Amino acid sequence: MTLAEQVPLSALTTFKTGGTARYVAECRSAEDIAEALAYAREHALPWYVLGEGSNVLAPDDGYAGVILRIRIEGLSFAEEDERMLATAGAGVSWDTLVAAAAERGFWGIENLAGIPGTCGAAPVQNIGAYGSELADTLVSVDVFDTESGETRTLSREDCAFGYRDSRFKRSTALIILRITLALRKDGAPQLAYKDLAAAKDAGVPLATPGDVGAAVREIRSRKFPPLAEYGTAGSFFKNPVVAADACAALLERYPGMPAYLADGGIKLSTAWFLDNVLSLRGYRSGHTWLYERQPLVIVAEAGASSSEVDALAREVEARMRETTGITLEREVRMMPTM
Ligand code: NAP
Repeated sequence: MTLAEQVPLSALTTFKTGGTARYVAECRSAEDIAEALAYAREHALPWYVLGEGSNVLAPDDGYAGVILRIRIEGLSFAEEDERMLATAGAGVSWDTLVAAAAERGFWGIENLAGIPGTCGAAPVQNIGAYGSELADTLVSVDVFDTESGETRTLSREDCAFGYRDSRFKRSTALIILRITLALRKDGAPQLAYKDLAAAKDAGVPLATPGDVGAAVREIRSRKFPPLAEYGTAGSFFKNPVVAADACAALLERYPGMPAYLADGGIKLSTAWFLDNVLSLRGYRSGHTWLYERQPLVIVAEAGASSSEVDALAREVEARMRETTGITLEREVRMMPTM
Protein backbone atom coordinates (compact mmCIF):
# COMPACT_ATOMS: atom_id res chain seq x y z
CA MET A 1 0.00 0.00 0.00
CA THR A 2 1.33 3.44 -0.84
CA LEU A 3 0.20 6.46 1.11
CA ALA A 4 0.28 10.01 -0.28
CA GLU A 5 -0.39 13.12 1.80
CA GLN A 6 -2.31 16.32 1.02
CA VAL A 7 -3.76 15.26 -2.34
CA PRO A 8 -6.21 17.59 -4.12
CA LEU A 9 -9.60 15.93 -4.43
CA SER A 10 -9.97 17.70 -7.77
CA ALA A 11 -7.39 15.21 -9.11
CA LEU A 12 -9.38 12.25 -7.76
CA THR A 13 -12.88 13.10 -8.99
CA THR A 14 -14.31 13.78 -12.44
CA PHE A 15 -16.09 16.91 -11.15
CA LYS A 16 -12.53 18.20 -10.55
CA THR A 17 -13.66 20.17 -7.52
CA GLY A 18 -13.13 19.95 -3.77
CA GLY A 19 -10.41 20.60 -1.20
CA THR A 20 -7.53 18.40 -0.12
CA ALA A 21 -7.49 14.82 1.10
CA ARG A 22 -5.18 14.38 4.07
CA TYR A 23 -4.13 10.89 2.98
CA VAL A 24 -4.71 8.81 -0.13
CA ALA A 25 -3.92 5.09 0.07
CA GLU A 26 -3.49 3.29 -3.26
CA CYS A 27 -4.88 -0.19 -2.66
CA ARG A 28 -3.91 -2.94 -5.14
CA SER A 29 -5.10 -5.89 -3.07
CA ALA A 30 -7.27 -6.89 -0.11
CA GLU A 31 -4.10 -6.82 2.01
CA ASP A 32 -3.52 -3.17 0.99
CA ILE A 33 -7.08 -2.36 2.02
CA ALA A 34 -6.56 -4.02 5.41
CA GLU A 35 -3.34 -2.04 5.86
CA ALA A 36 -4.98 1.28 4.94
CA LEU A 37 -7.87 0.64 7.33
CA ALA A 38 -5.44 -0.29 10.10
CA TYR A 39 -3.60 3.00 9.49
CA ALA A 40 -6.87 4.94 9.68
CA ARG A 41 -7.88 3.19 12.92
CA GLU A 42 -4.45 3.65 14.49
CA HIS A 43 -4.63 7.42 13.82
CA ALA A 44 -8.35 7.69 14.65
CA LEU A 45 -9.12 8.92 11.13
CA PRO A 46 -12.24 8.35 9.04
CA TRP A 47 -11.88 6.60 5.69
CA TYR A 48 -13.69 6.73 2.36
CA VAL A 49 -13.48 4.54 -0.73
CA LEU A 50 -12.98 5.93 -4.24
CA GLY A 51 -12.48 4.33 -7.64
CA GLU A 52 -12.17 6.84 -10.48
CA GLY A 53 -14.34 9.33 -8.57
CA SER A 54 -16.82 9.60 -11.45
CA ASN A 55 -20.02 9.70 -9.38
CA VAL A 56 -19.06 11.72 -6.33
CA LEU A 57 -18.91 15.35 -5.22
CA ALA A 58 -15.98 16.11 -2.91
CA PRO A 59 -16.28 18.71 -0.11
CA ASP A 60 -14.54 22.05 -0.63
CA ASP A 61 -13.23 21.80 2.94
CA GLY A 62 -11.39 18.66 1.97
CA TYR A 63 -11.33 15.29 3.67
CA ALA A 64 -9.40 15.00 6.92
CA GLY A 65 -9.08 11.23 6.72
CA VAL A 66 -7.81 8.41 4.50
CA ILE A 67 -9.15 7.96 0.97
CA LEU A 68 -8.79 4.34 -0.14
CA ARG A 69 -8.26 4.40 -3.87
CA ILE A 70 -9.08 0.92 -5.10
CA ARG A 71 -6.69 -0.12 -7.88
CA ILE A 72 -7.13 -3.92 -7.91
CA GLU A 73 -6.32 -5.16 -11.42
CA GLY A 74 -7.06 -8.40 -13.29
CA LEU A 75 -9.45 -9.30 -16.08
CA SER A 76 -10.24 -12.89 -17.11
CA PHE A 77 -12.84 -14.88 -19.03
CA ALA A 78 -13.84 -18.48 -18.41
CA GLU A 79 -16.36 -20.63 -20.23
CA GLU A 80 -19.02 -22.27 -18.05
CA ASP A 81 -21.73 -24.28 -19.81
CA GLU A 82 -23.58 -21.92 -22.13
CA ARG A 83 -22.20 -18.76 -20.61
CA MET A 84 -18.92 -16.88 -20.40
CA LEU A 85 -17.92 -15.72 -16.96
CA ALA A 86 -16.00 -12.44 -16.94
CA THR A 87 -14.14 -11.53 -13.76
CA ALA A 88 -12.65 -8.08 -13.27
CA GLY A 89 -10.75 -6.44 -10.42
CA ALA A 90 -12.46 -3.47 -8.77
CA GLY A 91 -9.81 -1.10 -10.17
CA VAL A 92 -10.30 -2.10 -13.82
CA SER A 93 -12.05 0.61 -15.84
CA TRP A 94 -15.60 -0.48 -16.60
CA ASP A 95 -15.23 0.42 -20.25
CA THR A 96 -12.07 -1.72 -20.51
CA LEU A 97 -14.19 -4.70 -19.46
CA VAL A 98 -16.93 -3.75 -21.96
CA ALA A 99 -14.34 -3.47 -24.77
CA ALA A 100 -12.65 -6.78 -23.81
CA ALA A 101 -16.01 -8.59 -23.82
CA ALA A 102 -16.93 -7.08 -27.19
CA GLU A 103 -13.57 -8.04 -28.67
CA ARG A 104 -14.38 -11.67 -27.83
CA GLY A 105 -17.90 -11.31 -29.23
CA PHE A 106 -19.66 -11.73 -25.86
CA TRP A 107 -23.09 -10.14 -25.34
CA GLY A 108 -24.65 -8.64 -22.25
CA ILE A 109 -22.92 -5.35 -21.40
CA GLU A 110 -22.58 -3.66 -24.81
CA ASN A 111 -25.35 -1.11 -24.01
CA LEU A 112 -23.28 -0.07 -20.98
CA ALA A 113 -20.33 1.01 -23.17
CA GLY A 114 -18.69 4.32 -22.40
CA ILE A 115 -19.84 4.61 -18.78
CA PRO A 116 -17.03 6.22 -16.79
CA GLY A 117 -15.79 4.63 -13.56
CA THR A 118 -14.36 1.35 -12.34
CA CYS A 119 -15.75 -2.17 -12.19
CA GLY A 120 -15.74 -1.83 -8.40
CA ALA A 121 -18.01 1.22 -8.58
CA ALA A 122 -20.41 -0.41 -11.06
CA PRO A 123 -22.40 -2.46 -8.50
CA VAL A 124 -22.66 0.46 -6.06
CA GLN A 125 -25.21 2.27 -8.16
CA ASN A 126 -26.11 -0.68 -10.38
CA ILE A 127 -25.02 1.28 -13.46
CA GLY A 128 -27.53 1.33 -16.27
CA ALA A 129 -28.05 2.74 -19.73
CA TYR A 130 -30.12 2.10 -22.85
CA GLY A 131 -32.31 -0.52 -21.22
CA SER A 132 -29.52 -2.60 -19.61
CA GLU A 133 -28.19 -2.54 -16.10
CA LEU A 134 -25.35 -4.28 -14.32
CA ALA A 135 -27.73 -6.50 -12.33
CA ASP A 136 -28.80 -8.18 -15.62
CA THR A 137 -25.43 -9.94 -15.92
CA LEU A 138 -23.86 -9.80 -12.47
CA VAL A 139 -23.29 -13.20 -10.85
CA SER A 140 -21.23 -12.35 -7.78
CA VAL A 141 -19.16 -9.71 -6.02
CA ASP A 142 -16.09 -10.43 -3.89
CA VAL A 143 -15.96 -8.05 -0.96
CA PHE A 144 -13.71 -7.12 1.93
CA ASP A 145 -15.74 -6.89 5.12
CA THR A 146 -14.31 -3.92 7.01
CA GLU A 147 -15.89 -5.09 10.26
CA SER A 148 -14.59 -8.68 10.31
CA GLY A 149 -11.51 -8.10 8.14
CA GLU A 150 -12.51 -11.10 6.01
CA THR A 151 -13.15 -11.45 2.30
CA ARG A 152 -16.29 -13.17 1.05
CA THR A 153 -18.43 -13.58 -2.03
CA LEU A 154 -21.91 -12.09 -2.37
CA SER A 155 -24.49 -13.38 -4.83
CA ARG A 156 -26.56 -11.02 -6.98
CA GLU A 157 -29.46 -11.43 -4.53
CA ASP A 158 -27.20 -10.42 -1.63
CA CYS A 159 -26.48 -7.11 -3.40
CA ALA A 160 -30.14 -5.95 -3.15
CA PHE A 161 -30.02 -4.22 -6.51
CA GLY A 162 -32.65 -1.65 -7.42
CA TYR A 163 -32.96 1.16 -9.93
CA ARG A 164 -29.48 2.79 -9.76
CA ASP A 165 -29.30 1.37 -6.26
CA SER A 166 -27.77 -1.43 -4.17
CA ARG A 167 -26.89 -2.30 -0.58
CA PHE A 168 -23.45 -0.74 -1.18
CA LYS A 169 -25.08 2.71 -1.38
CA ARG A 170 -26.55 2.39 2.07
CA SER A 171 -23.57 0.96 3.92
CA THR A 172 -19.84 1.36 3.45
CA ALA A 173 -19.03 -1.72 5.54
CA LEU A 174 -18.22 -3.82 2.45
CA ILE A 175 -15.49 -2.82 -0.02
CA ILE A 176 -15.78 -4.36 -3.48
CA LEU A 177 -12.69 -6.29 -4.60
CA ARG A 178 -13.84 -8.02 -7.76
CA ILE A 179 -16.97 -8.63 -9.84
CA THR A 180 -18.04 -11.63 -11.93
CA LEU A 181 -20.54 -11.33 -14.77
CA ALA A 182 -22.21 -13.96 -16.94
CA LEU A 183 -22.06 -13.01 -20.62
CA ARG A 184 -23.44 -14.86 -23.62
CA LYS A 185 -21.85 -16.10 -26.80
CA ASP A 186 -25.18 -15.78 -28.59
CA GLY A 187 -27.17 -12.63 -28.29
CA ALA A 188 -29.03 -9.93 -30.11
CA PRO A 189 -28.81 -6.16 -29.95
CA GLN A 190 -31.22 -4.47 -27.50
CA LEU A 191 -32.36 -1.38 -29.41
CA ALA A 192 -35.50 -0.30 -27.52
CA TYR A 193 -34.18 3.17 -26.66
CA LYS A 194 -34.89 5.82 -29.28
CA ASP A 195 -31.27 6.78 -29.97
CA LEU A 196 -30.29 3.18 -30.72
CA ALA A 197 -33.44 2.60 -32.78
CA ALA A 198 -32.54 5.77 -34.74
CA ALA A 199 -29.00 4.47 -35.26
CA LYS A 200 -30.48 1.28 -36.72
CA ASP A 201 -32.76 3.28 -39.03
CA ALA A 202 -29.76 5.33 -40.14
CA GLY A 203 -27.97 2.12 -41.19
CA VAL A 204 -25.35 2.13 -38.41
CA PRO A 205 -23.93 -1.42 -38.15
CA LEU A 206 -25.30 -3.10 -35.01
CA ALA A 207 -24.70 -6.79 -35.67
CA THR A 208 -22.08 -7.49 -32.99
CA PRO A 209 -21.50 -6.41 -29.36
CA GLY A 210 -18.59 -4.35 -30.69
CA ASP A 211 -20.87 -2.56 -33.16
CA VAL A 212 -23.44 -1.78 -30.46
CA GLY A 213 -20.74 -0.59 -28.05
CA ALA A 214 -19.31 1.72 -30.72
CA ALA A 215 -22.79 3.12 -31.49
CA VAL A 216 -23.48 3.71 -27.77
CA ARG A 217 -20.13 5.47 -27.30
CA GLU A 218 -20.86 7.68 -30.30
CA ILE A 219 -24.34 8.59 -28.99
CA ARG A 220 -22.97 9.31 -25.52
CA SER A 221 -20.21 11.52 -26.91
CA ARG A 222 -22.88 13.71 -28.53
CA LYS A 223 -24.85 14.11 -25.29
CA PHE A 224 -22.24 14.35 -22.59
CA PRO A 225 -19.59 16.99 -22.02
CA PRO A 226 -15.97 16.06 -22.76
CA LEU A 227 -14.32 15.09 -19.47
CA ALA A 228 -10.98 16.45 -20.69
CA GLU A 229 -12.50 19.92 -20.84
CA TYR A 230 -15.09 20.09 -18.04
CA GLY A 231 -15.88 18.61 -14.69
CA THR A 232 -18.99 16.45 -14.46
CA ALA A 233 -20.32 13.25 -12.94
CA GLY A 234 -22.82 12.55 -15.73
CA SER A 235 -26.47 12.43 -14.71
CA PHE A 236 -26.76 14.26 -11.41
CA PHE A 237 -30.31 13.15 -10.53
CA LYS A 238 -32.18 9.88 -10.79
CA ASN A 239 -35.41 9.46 -12.71
CA PRO A 240 -38.33 9.33 -10.26
CA VAL A 241 -40.38 6.14 -10.03
CA VAL A 242 -43.95 6.98 -9.00
CA ALA A 243 -47.21 5.10 -8.35
CA ALA A 244 -49.72 4.74 -11.21
CA ASP A 245 -52.22 7.24 -9.72
CA ALA A 246 -49.51 9.87 -9.21
CA CYS A 247 -48.42 9.32 -12.80
CA ALA A 248 -52.00 9.72 -14.05
CA ALA A 249 -52.36 13.01 -12.14
CA LEU A 250 -49.10 14.30 -13.60
CA LEU A 251 -50.16 13.24 -17.10
CA GLU A 252 -53.29 15.38 -16.76
CA ARG A 253 -51.16 18.39 -15.92
CA TYR A 254 -48.39 17.57 -18.38
CA PRO A 255 -49.81 15.80 -21.45
CA GLY A 256 -46.92 14.44 -23.49
CA MET A 257 -44.90 13.59 -20.40
CA PRO A 258 -42.88 10.42 -21.06
CA ALA A 259 -43.63 7.54 -18.68
CA TYR A 260 -42.16 4.04 -18.67
CA LEU A 261 -43.19 0.91 -16.81
CA ALA A 262 -40.53 0.08 -14.24
CA ASP A 263 -39.94 -2.14 -11.24
CA GLY A 264 -42.05 -0.75 -8.43
CA GLY A 265 -44.06 1.79 -10.45
CA ILE A 266 -43.82 4.16 -13.40
CA LYS A 267 -40.52 5.79 -14.28
CA LEU A 268 -40.60 9.44 -15.35
CA SER A 269 -37.87 11.39 -17.12
CA THR A 270 -36.20 14.01 -14.93
CA ALA A 271 -34.51 15.49 -18.01
CA TRP A 272 -37.92 16.00 -19.64
CA PHE A 273 -39.20 17.98 -16.63
CA LEU A 274 -36.04 20.09 -16.44
CA ASP A 275 -36.34 20.86 -20.12
CA ASN A 276 -40.07 21.14 -20.81
CA VAL A 277 -41.61 22.18 -17.51
CA LEU A 278 -38.87 24.15 -15.74
CA SER A 279 -37.04 25.41 -18.87
CA LEU A 280 -33.71 24.75 -17.20
CA ARG A 281 -31.79 23.36 -20.15
CA GLY A 282 -28.51 25.31 -20.19
CA TYR A 283 -29.43 27.10 -16.92
CA ARG A 284 -26.30 28.61 -15.44
CA SER A 285 -25.27 29.51 -11.92
CA GLY A 286 -21.71 30.78 -11.44
CA HIS A 287 -19.23 28.30 -12.89
CA THR A 288 -21.81 25.52 -13.17
CA TRP A 289 -24.74 24.76 -15.44
CA LEU A 290 -27.18 22.16 -16.70
CA TYR A 291 -25.70 20.85 -19.91
CA GLU A 292 -27.34 22.18 -23.06
CA ARG A 293 -27.45 18.74 -24.71
CA GLN A 294 -28.68 16.88 -21.61
CA PRO A 295 -30.02 18.95 -18.69
CA LEU A 296 -29.73 16.02 -16.27
CA VAL A 297 -25.98 16.56 -16.37
CA ILE A 298 -24.38 19.27 -14.22
CA VAL A 299 -21.22 20.68 -15.75
CA ALA A 300 -18.51 22.50 -13.81
CA GLU A 301 -15.98 24.68 -15.59
CA ALA A 302 -12.51 25.58 -14.35
CA GLY A 303 -12.78 27.59 -11.13
CA ALA A 304 -16.00 25.88 -10.00
CA SER A 305 -16.38 24.72 -6.41
CA SER A 306 -18.35 21.78 -5.06
CA SER A 307 -20.56 24.21 -3.14
CA GLU A 308 -21.54 25.84 -6.42
CA VAL A 309 -22.49 22.43 -7.83
CA ASP A 310 -24.44 21.65 -4.66
CA ALA A 311 -26.19 25.05 -4.72
CA LEU A 312 -27.28 24.53 -8.33
CA ALA A 313 -28.53 21.03 -7.47
CA ARG A 314 -30.49 22.39 -4.49
CA GLU A 315 -32.06 25.07 -6.66
CA VAL A 316 -33.12 22.45 -9.22
CA GLU A 317 -34.51 20.22 -6.45
CA ALA A 318 -36.50 23.12 -4.94
CA ARG A 319 -37.92 24.24 -8.28
CA MET A 320 -38.89 20.70 -9.21
CA ARG A 321 -40.63 20.19 -5.86
CA GLU A 322 -42.46 23.54 -5.94
CA THR A 323 -43.65 23.19 -9.52
CA THR A 324 -44.37 19.47 -9.88
CA GLY A 325 -44.48 18.11 -6.31
CA ILE A 326 -41.75 15.61 -7.24
CA THR A 327 -38.82 15.15 -4.87
CA LEU A 328 -35.67 14.45 -6.86
CA GLU A 329 -33.10 11.99 -5.63
CA ARG A 330 -29.45 12.50 -6.42
CA GLU A 331 -27.56 9.87 -8.36
CA VAL A 332 -24.24 11.52 -7.49
CA ARG A 333 -22.95 10.72 -4.02
CA MET A 334 -21.83 13.41 -1.57
CA MET A 335 -18.47 12.60 0.02
CA PRO A 336 -18.79 13.19 3.77
CA THR A 337 -17.02 16.26 5.14
CA MET A 338 -15.31 14.17 7.83
P1 NAP B 1 -33.21 9.44 -23.26
O1 NAP B 1 -33.07 8.32 -24.23
O2 NAP B 1 -33.39 10.83 -23.78
O3 NAP B 1 -34.42 9.13 -22.27
C1 NAP B 1 -34.73 9.95 -21.15
C2 NAP B 1 -35.02 9.05 -19.96
O4 NAP B 1 -36.14 8.25 -20.24
C3 NAP B 1 -33.85 8.14 -19.69
O5 NAP B 1 -33.22 8.58 -18.53
C4 NAP B 1 -34.45 6.74 -19.59
O6 NAP B 1 -34.40 6.19 -18.29
C5 NAP B 1 -35.89 6.89 -19.95
N1 NAP B 1 -36.17 6.07 -21.16
C6 NAP B 1 -35.99 6.44 -22.45
N2 NAP B 1 -36.40 5.46 -23.26
C7 NAP B 1 -36.83 4.45 -22.49
C8 NAP B 1 -37.36 3.17 -22.76
N3 NAP B 1 -37.54 2.73 -24.01
N4 NAP B 1 -37.68 2.38 -21.72
C9 NAP B 1 -37.51 2.81 -20.46
N5 NAP B 1 -37.01 4.01 -20.13
C10 NAP B 1 -36.68 4.83 -21.14
O7 NAP B 1 -32.00 9.42 -22.21
P2 NAP B 1 -30.48 9.85 -22.36
O8 NAP B 1 -30.19 10.94 -21.42
O9 NAP B 1 -30.07 10.01 -23.78
O10 NAP B 1 -29.77 8.57 -21.78
C11 NAP B 1 -29.79 7.34 -22.46
C12 NAP B 1 -29.42 6.24 -21.51
O11 NAP B 1 -28.09 6.37 -21.04
C13 NAP B 1 -30.30 6.19 -20.28
O12 NAP B 1 -30.52 4.85 -19.96
C14 NAP B 1 -29.47 6.88 -19.25
O13 NAP B 1 -29.78 6.47 -17.94
C15 NAP B 1 -28.09 6.45 -19.63
N6 NAP B 1 -27.05 7.38 -19.18
C16 NAP B 1 -26.75 7.51 -17.85
C17 NAP B 1 -25.76 8.39 -17.45
C18 NAP B 1 -25.40 8.57 -16.02
O14 NAP B 1 -24.57 9.42 -15.71
N7 NAP B 1 -25.98 7.84 -15.11
C19 NAP B 1 -25.06 9.10 -18.37
C20 NAP B 1 -25.38 8.92 -19.69
C21 NAP B 1 -26.38 8.07 -20.09
P3 NAP B 1 -33.12 5.40 -17.71
O15 NAP B 1 -32.17 6.43 -17.31
O16 NAP B 1 -33.71 4.67 -16.55
O17 NAP B 1 -32.63 4.48 -18.76
